[in-house]
Amino acid sequence: MPILVLSDIHANIEALEAVLADAAPFDDVWFLGDAVGYGPDPNACVERLLSLTPGCWLAGNHDWAALGRLDLADFNPDARTAAQWTAEALTPAVRSALESLEPRRDGVAGLYTLVHGSPRHPIWEYVLDAGTAAENFAEFDAPVGFFGHTHVPVVFEEGLDGTLRRPYVLGQPLPAENGRRLINPGSVGQPRDGDPRASYLLLEPDTGTITFRRAAYAIDMVQGRILKAGLPPRLAARLSYGW
Ligand code: ZN
Repeated sequence: MPILVLSDIHANIEALEAVLADAAPFDDVWFLGDAVGYGPDPNACVERLLSLTPGCWLAGNHDWAALGRLDLADFNPDARTAAQWTAEALTPAVRSALESLEPRRDGVAGLYTLVHGSPRHPIWEYVLDAGTAAENFAEFDAPVGFFGHTHVPVVFEEGLDGTLRRPYVLGQPLPAENGRRLINPGSVGQPRDGDPRASYLLLEPDTGTITFRRAAYAIDMVQGRILKAGLPPRLAARLSYGW
């Protein structure tokens, strides 16, 4: 059975439940960080993750912000407001679950490196283009790295002609090849590639084959909860556009 690889849930429990239902059955869960921040249900998301006992669970910048480990001056105003709201909302049990997490792990299942941002800067760096990906291949030894943080699903491939973006078709298995890869499953709770559906991928551990998938969820329900919580309305609006 496959491993469910997901990132950037951002306190969106509706999106998380839709992904879990769409992805089942799976053997394990690898989560690349940012369980909380932006969305209205941080405690429910962390508790749901705990119930899955993920084989790997990383910290993201929003998780650390909610714990007071990052300077909120580095966040944009909406993210800062949401981080302050989240910090007050977290239960002691959820807070202590988040406190044990690190933003990078090597040797996962023997041969994968998992990071939140990038291998070079696991908390802050955004790997949005092939040039940044190329620099980051020097920062880890594994054949495959998984990363999150950008909320954009993508595969960067290191080849003889340099690092290129590898096209894929949603729902169609993409076999592993000889070249090394940096792979982002996209964001569960706040996609930013223009598709508002929750994004994730399935990894076949025996072959390394990955399949990108999307799951529709009740966006309007989450938007209602964001507004009711008093979070910035823009954080609700952007969910409709996947941006
Ligand atoms: Zn994020």
